[in-house]
Amino acid sequence: MRLRNIKGAREAMISSPYTVNEPAANKGKWAEFFGNSNPIRLEIGTGKGQFITALAEQNPAINYIGIEKYSSVLLRALQKQEVLQLPNLIFIRMEAEEIEDIFAQGEIDRIYLNFSDPWPKDRHAHRRLTSGKFFSRYDKILKKDGVVEFKTDNVDLFAFSLEEIPAAGWTLDKVTHDLHNDAAMNEGNIMTEYEERFSAQGNAICKLIASR
Ligand code: SAM
Repeated sequence: MRLRNIKGAREAMISSPYTVNEPAANKGKWAEFFGNSNPIRLEIGTGKGQFITALAEQNPAINYIGIEKYSSVLLRALQKQEVLQLPNLIFIRMEAEEIEDIFAQGEIDRIYLNFSDPWPKDRHAHRRLTSGKFFSRYDKILKKDGVVEFKTDNVDLFAFSLEEIPAAGWTLDKVTHDLHNDAAMNEGNIMTEYEERFSAQGNAICKLIASR
């Protein structure tokens, strides 16, 4: 998702109390940053932040960090958070490839990947957020019993992920090809912006949960 360049988006981000501009300085110290030892969960590619904001509202005893590479998109998430002022939610504008520089071994409790960019060309497979390369990064920052949750309507990306994740040494704990008609997996589901849009068009939503 790339919105038009919004004038002042970068400046608004830098001055917001809900973004961290030098995140590497908090590596290994995120509990100190939040002022508590609650679990820390990440959404990578958070877009306009609907999903992670709803989670943070529902779960005040969990800390949430939304990661997004474009300021123009993240600005929308920040605008919501500036109204809500949730103490357990912050955003970082960054490229997900750098997560190992930002989070220490085992510092993260759960990672959410929602409607990640498909990168359909084979030569770009390593850029997919469900590639083995990314899972080896997740392995470094996730605590031992941490999980990765992934939702998409893209059947090719989902099929790739179902092969790639076990090949990277992870276990697929739960899988559905039709989340909204799977009562058990859909319980408590929070829809993302893309999920609302694509399910309204009749696309089935796929979801998997992976652990080591
Ligand atoms: N998760 C939201 C949803 O489900 O509505 C947005 C989905 S959108 C298709 C994917 C988002 O991930 C975009 O906003 C994109 O900029 C961001 N993104 C993709 N690759 C990324 C990366 N490597 N690092 C950070 N953000 C990324």
